Amino acid sequence: MGRLLKRFSGGATKIAKAGGEETPLAPIQSSDVARRAALLDSLEKSDLGWFWASDGAGRLIYLSEPAIERVMPEKEDLIGKQLSDFFKDDDYEGVSPQRTLKFQLAARNSLRPTVVKIENGDRTYWWEISGSPRIGETEQFSGYHGIARDVTASIASQRDAEKLSRYDSLTGLSNRHRISRKLSSMLISFKAAKRSCAIMLLDLDRFKQVNDTMGHPAGDELLKQVAARLKRIIGDCGEIGRIGGDEFQVILPDIEDRQDLSGIAERAIQMLSQPYSINGMRAVIGCSVGMAIAPFDGIESEELVKAADLALYAAKGGGRGRFRFYSSDLRDQASHRHQIEEDLRDALIKEELEMHYQPIVTADGHKVVCVEALMRWKHPERGMVSPADFIPVAEEVGIIRELGEWAIFEVCNQVTRWPEGIGAAINVSAVQFASDNLIEIVKRALKKSGVQPSRIELEITESVFVGDMERALRIFRELKQVGVRLALDDFGTGYSSLSYLRDAPFDKIKIDQSFVRGCSEEGNNNGAIVAAVVSLASALNMQTVAEGVETKDELKAITAQGASHIQGALFSRAQPASFITERMDSGELVFEPLGPEKYRSDRRTEFRKIGLIHDDSRYQVFLRNLSKTGAKIEGLLEVPVGTEVVLDLGGGQLAVASVRRSEGISQGLEFETPLISDGADGLCTRHRVSPYQIEAVGRKLQALKDEDVAAITGGMSKAKKAFLEVDLATLSVD
Ligand code: C2E
Ligand code: MG
Ligand code: MG
Repeated sequence: MGRLLKRFSGGATKIAKAGGEETPLAPIQSSDVARRAALLDSLEKSDLGWFWASDGAGRLIYLSEPAIERVMPEKEDLIGKQLSDFFKDDDYEGVSPQRTLKFQLAARNSLRPTVVKIENGDRTYWWEISGSPRIGETEQFSGYHGIARDVTASIASQRDAEKLSRYDSLTGLSNRHRISRKLSSMLISFKAAKRSCAIMLLDLDRFKQVNDTMGHPAGDELLKQVAARLKRIIGDCGEIGRIGGDEFQVILPDIEDRQDLSGIAERAIQMLSQPYSINGMRAVIGCSVGMAIAPFDGIESEELVKAADLALYAAKGGGRGRFRFYSSDLRDQASHRHQIEEDLRDALIKEELEMHYQPIVTADGHKVVCVEALMRWKHPERGMVSPADFIPVAEEVGIIRELGEWAIFEVCNQVTRWPEGIGAAINVSAVQFASDNLIEIVKRALKKSGVQPSRIELEITESVFVGDMERALRIFRELKQVGVRLALDDFGTGYSSLSYLRDAPFDKIKIDQSFVRGCSEEGNNNGAIVAAVVSLASALNMQTVAEGVETKDELKAITAQGASHIQGALFSRAQPASFITERMDSGELVFEPLGPEKYRSDRRTEFRKIGLIHDDSRYQVFLRNLSKTGAKIEGLLEVPVGTEVVLDLGGGQLAVASVRRSEGISQGLEFETPLISDGADGLCTRHRVSPYQIEAVGRKLQALKDEDVAAITGGMSKAKKAFLEVDLATLSVD
């Protein structure tokens, strides 16, 4: 105590008088010194607080005796130890403080009350320390003086409580709160250290069904088993949390290679999709995965989670049981969708919706007997918006009921203006089908328009069978009693089960265009599937319509398989009511097939503008086709074979390639590293340009932006270009 005390009481104390001039106080009496020493001694012993001091070289030179007793009685050489070896950062759950103690000490900062950890063998103590740097008379730093108090007990109980509130009691995984806190602090420290970090969001497919049919305890048991499998897959590569009912999040530090990530995602999907045994019963679920990687897709945690969420949404939309990486297109799609949602609410009121009608002709005489009503939205700014874009949004936000009701009234009215022998088919969404008033709406529309019920056909998709099958069958029977006809739309694309065909009173099956496409090609099974559906339908006394017939050879094949009706661009696309009325009035009920002989699948080549970097120059070229190992490009004149280039495929994806073939304006390139699947039938590079590299050349650190990538890859270069660029506008599209 003596040495420290000397420092604490050293020097004559001065006090400022009101006038500003200083008068020395009377020298400290020796009895004061003794009193102070006694006071400090008893303070040290009381455990209320301890003292510590270090020298200019950062070594511990003093620590209150009771404090030493408490943590390291056996350690003789504690005094003289480096302060930063004794007081450790409290990196609770792997989260280090932003400014480490080492940093604070090295910077000679004042230490505000900070919790530090002291480890002795397998024992850990927590102290709260504070201290201030001592600057000597020669302005030299002479170490720290500080105080400390033991907070071990309160930290331990606080952590126990936190643990309870941070872990999911069902699965033992981190809960949403903990995993999100962890991600935020990790991303902050990773940003400083220029490290990358991937996150994976997993959502179980069909979990709700298990919960609903097998009961909640079974659902809980399933979640436990899912958590156990996930732990096995992830191991110590990352941290797993359950962030919602059946949603999990995995943090994967230091992974940015998308090949590694897709491997993990595929394994997770595969393992979680294996059957589970729950109380002797078998349950099968699936899993969809969305992934995003910092700093490429987001710097802060909120941005990154949002990106992974969009990817998950896309994975689910893409058919479930898939993984998907985030890409900026998804954000554009999401904002497009959001815009549609906003505008759709007004579309009906503003009368922007219209019904168009596509003829359905008989297979034998190509005579129109029915038209399918297809909704069209003339958006004031976007032009025609496809129902494939807006119907799903309308279903999600619930406007489909209003749109559907409007469609039924509109079509019923329209049909009364056409000859008796012509009917119209109306699409009914599964959401609308599930509402209680469909039958009542149909009855009202029939009554109001006075149309004969048998001229109206309702097209329903297989998805209505997913819910309550009994209810679906009851509604079908009631609709039949009303007198309308029923058609099963998009047959073969959904939850096809032939069993419901036997019970449901359909008049017609519409074979989806995916079976029509390619049905004339050799070695393609579609022809056989069409034939099977046709024979089944005729056995059940149902008509068959082949949808989306585009070419003459498809027509020939479909007709040969025995389909009774044809619908498709080969005869006519959907047209405004006035067009149909004109044809009816002029009695032209037969449609001629007008279109190509054959379907050419090779037409579907990639066709987009991309960047090409060579030396310091950046060019724009057309990407004609893309495979894992190479690409075909057009737009540069006479590039010698062997030239090394870099293709900028967008989104920071740079692929090093060399020219293998070159002919005029067209080159065949081979990639140095093959591309990998992006999870959505597309391809992507394993690595991307890192935003840290972009930051290093003086640009802002942010998630990848094409402009940033272009700027650092020769976009600003004024260097003379080695190759002649062809005006891309002059290149034809096919
Ligand atoms: P869908 O009921 O299967 O309708 C057939 C779709 O195939 C229509 O697309 C039609 O234009 C298109 N199509 C017809 N012939 C060809 C062809 O030869 N080639 C190609 N590639 N396509 C062809 P559309 O009009 O874009 O409608 C898409 C979907 O939106 C419809 O599929 C239907 O599910 C839904 N939809 C359209 N109108 C309504 C509506 O009024 N209510 C409801 N609930 N859904 C509707
Ligand atoms: Mg339809
Ligand atoms: Mg269809």
